[in-house]
Amino acid sequence: MAHTPFTALGRNPANHSALTPVSFLKRAAHIFPRRTAVIDDDMTLNYGEFYRRSMALASALELLGVGSGETVSVLCFNTHELLECHYGVPMLGAVLNAINTRLDAATLGFILSHGQAKVLIYDTRLQELVSEAVAKLENVPVLIAVERSDPGESPASRLTGALSYEAFLRQGNPSRGWKKVADEWHPIALNYTSGTTGNPKGSVYHHRGAYLAAMSNAMAMSMTPQTVYLWTLPMFHCNGWSYTWGVTAAGGTHVCLSRVQSDAVLTRIIKHGVTHMCGAPIVLNMIVNDFHRQGARMDRPVQFAVGGAAPPSAIIQRGREVGFEIVHLYGLTETFGPSMLCVIQDDWRGLSVNELARKMARQGVGLYAIDDVAIAGATPGELAPADGQTMGELLLRGNTLMAGYLANPDATREAFEDGWFHTGDLAVMHPDGYVEIKDRAKDIIISGGENISSQEVEEVLYRHPQVLEAAVVAMPDEKWGEAPCAFVTLKQDADGVSEADIIAWCKTHMASYKAPRKVVFAELPKTSTGKVRKNVLREQVREGSFTK
Ligand code: ADP
Repeated sequence: MAHTPFTALGRNPANHSALTPVSFLKRAAHIFPRRTAVIDDDMTLNYGEFYRRSMALASALELLGVGSGETVSVLCFNTHELLECHYGVPMLGAVLNAINTRLDAATLGFILSHGQAKVLIYDTRLQELVSEAVAKLENVPVLIAVERSDPGESPASRLTGALSYEAFLRQGNPSRGWKKVADEWHPIALNYTSGTTGNPKGSVYHHRGAYLAAMSNAMAMSMTPQTVYLWTLPMFHCNGWSYTWGVTAAGGTHVCLSRVQSDAVLTRIIKHGVTHMCGAPIVLNMIVNDFHRQGARMDRPVQFAVGGAAPPSAIIQRGREVGFEIVHLYGLTETFGPSMLCVIQDDWRGLSVNELARKMARQGVGLYAIDDVAIAGATPGELAPADGQTMGELLLRGNTLMAGYLANPDATREAFEDGWFHTGDLAVMHPDGYVEIKDRAKDIIISGGENISSQEVEEVLYRHPQVLEAAVVAMPDEKWGEAPCAFVTLKQDADGVSEADIIAWCKTHMASYKAPRKVVFAELPKTSTGKVRKNVLREQVREGSFTK
């Protein structure tokens, strides 16, 4: 900037500080100390208590020797303990690694070791999984057990050497206070995504992005202090799409829910006056269909933000009848969850449900902290026109993008090539600037809101003694959205191997939700260089015309 009178005005500690979502809790505790912050099965916390428990956690972790930039892993359902970790861990400058509770022991072990977890806070309902995973670790993290149980059951006893979370918290000082990180680029969270390679990649979030994503998501759903947010989305999924911080920013109430079942959802909506919830399409479909069947009607509209796939017209219609206002979001782990929103225009309100569904099927426009959304053109560096026709990779740029993948410079470079984040999704841009996803270039299958790496499934298939070749693609599935479909060529001397044998093999060698739902025994179509032509397989799956 040329020298002008403005240039003399600099940043100072009074007018500039690091953005961090931890400050939302400090503010809420200051202005709403007695307002209900968290409702869970075993306790209800007001904002004062929520803040003090988070500080006690930070203090206890510090006494244990956890320092800035070190990883604290958490394997918990949607409970107040996991929410406390979203504040207590970053208060120390430590990094929160919230892990998917549906993973198998080998993947959990990989994550704990790759992320160099110093501590693992785990729910005793996941005891067996933890015990199996840590048994194979060279450096076992300090284990802290959250002693929880499902209704009618008693908590499992803690693993040998594990501390009790509540006793651990009592060691900490609830008036400890905390200091903001010096640099808002400091890591706050580590979230593993199953990419196109077998091993998960760890997306590193920064305090700045977490702050902006929380604000932006709270605005996208018009949250206020009257917001009552029901946790139907796992908090381990991109930190609950940043709503772990966003609901607190608004000063709303978090209603926890460990297991998503329609009756438990309905009871909580009625009892606590829920106003907002989020989830994968399978969760939305299940709740809307079950409520509809039971003739349930909500007294006041509940906003439901769905991400992962576009909401179909039948669900929009049934949702309305039951009392849900559906919001369509798009995002990835690498973008702190939601990065696009299908903004409803005023003149869509009079449309028929089918016409509205067509508009709403589009993933939309960038959220507040996203600067640019574009579609890659045919040649590198070129962008595709907004003609609703030209398909290319969806590119994003803005302030709610990960810092990169932990200890994976190649994947990080690839993800950010040419100054854009490459989503791996294929889309078109409509003339009104709305984006519509058409396909996926990356090799993932999204089943029931969970990512499955097709390569991971292929690796397990290749280990089967009678399998010569295998390729796995996504197959549309009414219940799960997508399901893995395996194309398998058996060895010449293979004898009597059935579809059920292959599926059973997969279920014993990885998390069972990743196993193929269908196995087609066939020759695999190849390119001239011998690469499997997955696009041909995808087409066969879409058309239901499997090569026998
Ligand atoms: P998350 O953890 O938020 O589920 P993932 O990184 O696991 O994110 O999966 C992101 C992928 O999900 C996207 O790259 C895209 O393929 C798909 N996806 C997300 N939202 C939508 C949507 N609204 N419509 C279509 N596909 C979507």
